[in-house]
Amino acid sequence: MVKETGYYDLLGCKPNASAEELKKAYRKLALKYHPDKNPNEGEKFKAISQAYEVLSDPEKRSIYDEGGEAAIKKGGADTGDFRNPMDFFEKFFGGGFSSGRRRERRGKDVVHQMSVTLEELYNGATRKLALQKNVICDKCEGRGGKKGATEKCAQCHGAGLETRIQQIGPGLVHHVEKVCSRCSGTGETINEKDRCKQCSGRKTVRERKVLEVHIEKGMRDGQKIVFSGEGDHEPDSQPGDIVILLDEKEHHTFVHAGTDLMMKMPIQLVEALCGFQRVIKTLDERDLVITSPKGEVMKHEMTKCVMDEGMPLYKNPLEKGRLIIQFEVIFPESTPLSVISALEQCLPPRPEVTIPIDVEQVTLSDFDPKQRREQQHHRMVYEEDDRYEQAPRVQQCTSS
Ligand SMILES: [Zn+2]
Ligand SMILES: [Zn+2]
Repeated sequence: MVKETGYYDLLGCKPNASAEELKKAYRKLALKYHPDKNPNEGEKFKAISQAYEVLSDPEKRSIYDEGGEAAIKKGGADTGDFRNPMDFFEKFFGGGFSSGRRRERRGKDVVHQMSVTLEELYNGATRKLALQKNVICDKCEGRGGKKGATEKCAQCHGAGLETRIQQIGPGLVHHVEKVCSRCSGTGETINEKDRCKQCSGRKTVRERKVLEVHIEKGMRDGQKIVFSGEGDHEPDSQPGDIVILLDEKEHHTFVHAGTDLMMKMPIQLVEALCGFQRVIKTLDERDLVITSPKGEVMKHEMTKCVMDEGMPLYKNPLEKGRLIIQFEVIFPESTPLSVISALEQCLPPRPEVTIPIDVEQVTLSDFDPKQRREQQHHRMVYEEDDRYEQAPRVQQCTSS
């Protein structure tokens, strides 16, 4: 049991979620609430980043599970110091995301999450993706107007910033630097009549772009496909990248761990004891027939595997992982009285049980963990009642 579930709730996960589930949840939410996409959700972005920063670290996670947020905050430098959520985000997603520090002036990377089916990851697929991005205006070649039409901004003298004086108390002023309102920080202006008609002086235009995304066999959930230099382009800078993040949809039959595919297969008791055959439809629509080993009893939750029928290896798709099957034996609810003795003849003999003469017969009830707690509670109440009843009797004895 965990002390509180706040961090898990932020990520939309249960407290028993696996590291993989938490990672996937964070990835989805971080992209959704990233300030680039959702400028008004900065606080939410920060909160989910902090929650994941704690839960992704096994040590911090156990501190949180035991003592909640207070324990994390109390932990000091080791546990309580949250990183800047943007730094955390960039570290999590690794390269492919622009950061002003990494390269000189570079346009923004455009990140898209693409939902893919397990079939697509198994067979490979080509998907078309239409998106909007900024490109340099071809009419004015990114100048924003006629050659020589740009002038130094008169308001900020080309600095792009202006200083305002703010009175914050009697005799107290504060200098505030703000992006110049006239030139929007570019430091230059273009006369209205000289502005480029196509981009209205903005130097870039929005363009619709259709990308062909090649999903290769064996790619994984969370894998990035980078279209280098296809992101936003601004004048005097390198264009950013378009980054496609694969997001695997749940499959109705298979889950996978690495290159192994796993499935559960319910079988009837008669099949578990006497053998069975089943047909499995593969992700590329082939039919595999499996036959239980002759004479072997398939026990509940037993696992078997088929070699080379798992996921293909990325960049080496002729090699495949395993298909792991876990059998779930369905037991009948009751045994008809008429067949009990016939059934006994076929099964291994019962062990001999000696029952002593002086025994207590007790009833086997259905087990319900909640019910037990209630009964304990009742018993405690009865015990207290007994004590109250006994007290006056003791007094009577001593007085007579
Ligand atoms: Zn233009
Ligand atoms: Zn200006």
